[in-house]
Amino acid sequence: MTIQNDMTAIRLYGPEDLRVDRVPRPGPPGSGEVLLRVTAVGVCGSDLHTYQDGRIGDTSVLQPITLGHEFGGVVEAVAADALDGNFQPLLTGTRVAVDPAQPCGRCAMCEQGHPNLCHRLHFCGLFPDEGSLSNYMLVPSHTCFPVPDAIDDAGAALLEPLGIAIHAIDLAHIRVANSVAILGAGPIGLYILQLAKLSGADPIFVSDKFDWRLAKAEAYGAIPINCDQMDAVQAVLEATAGQGVDVAMEAAWADHSVQQAAEMTRLGGRLVLVGIPGSDNLHLKHSTARRKGLTIRMSRRMKHTYPRAIKLAQSGKVDLNGIVSHHFPLEQTPAAFALNLAYRDDVVKIVIDV
Ligand SMILES: [Zn+2]
Ligand SMILES: [Zn+2]
Repeated sequence: MTIQNDMTAIRLYGPEDLRVDRVPRPGPPGSGEVLLRVTAVGVCGSDLHTYQDGRIGDTSVLQPITLGHEFGGVVEAVAADALDGNFQPLLTGTRVAVDPAQPCGRCAMCEQGHPNLCHRLHFCGLFPDEGSLSNYMLVPSHTCFPVPDAIDDAGAALLEPLGIAIHAIDLAHIRVANSVAILGAGPIGLYILQLAKLSGADPIFVSDKFDWRLAKAEAYGAIPINCDQMDAVQAVLEATAGQGVDVAMEAAWADHSVQQAAEMTRLGGRLVLVGIPGSDNLHLKHSTARRKGLTIRMSRRMKHTYPRAIKLAQSGKVDLNGIVSHHFPLEQTPAAFALNLAYRDDVVKIVIDV
């Protein structure tokens, strides 16, 4: 019998240079660790930034790195002392979703309740930490959350972007019957839309330039605005008697959409910025934000949102898999990234089946 000691990993070498590599399989789990057989990985907008530019924000890829941070898997092997995210013992064979963030738990930010701002944080797939686009992975057991049968393998991977959307909604402080504008009907925008609806927001406007994405937003109860075909700001102002919305949420690539979001927001309103700009610059006219006295919140990762994400997905209150437009096998990940970046073929969310 031959024992396979290597595995497939999808590694980024530089801008738009993604390769299917054979790499050594990770060894047995150390104390508090889990060896995971990865089952599904979501392709995220931040992965696309890293893929396109070889960096995200000011973090550059300095040597080949395995991408992927939205993932689920099956526990292949586990250390005897390993507890999951709910402080329960983990068993071999358990299906889990993995929080890619590994805050230290001891720094000032962690202890003051902001683990998403931990400066000693490790994050799967963010240089220099390896990501999940591979057959196997070692992760800390406390980042693993068992998923019920109602959530399939793709769904387990999608709990991460849902968690991001939950954190953004937490920052939005939506009150029942608040009007909300969401800029961007990508995966995060569509989850934010569903959560805003659950929070009692009404009406909800969603702008995007792709009609197929707007069709999904409309199906989830939003008023769609094609920002390529009309002035999105004007459309929102007209629909709100010139006032603007109580809350605007920017979930696009944060270029001119940030300014648009500010212009859509009412006096004293709230603006939550979730999108990440390719240029690493924020474009916002000072007087727009100042004269309205806007409260602006920058959304950064999430805070222990997996238990809520699992609950919402399990009960069906959030349509977790409804945003998935494509599945690709692991070996075809480079083609999946190219398709996603080109916004071809009505792409919304791509899931890589490992
Ligand atoms: Zn992501
Ligand atoms: Zn910390």
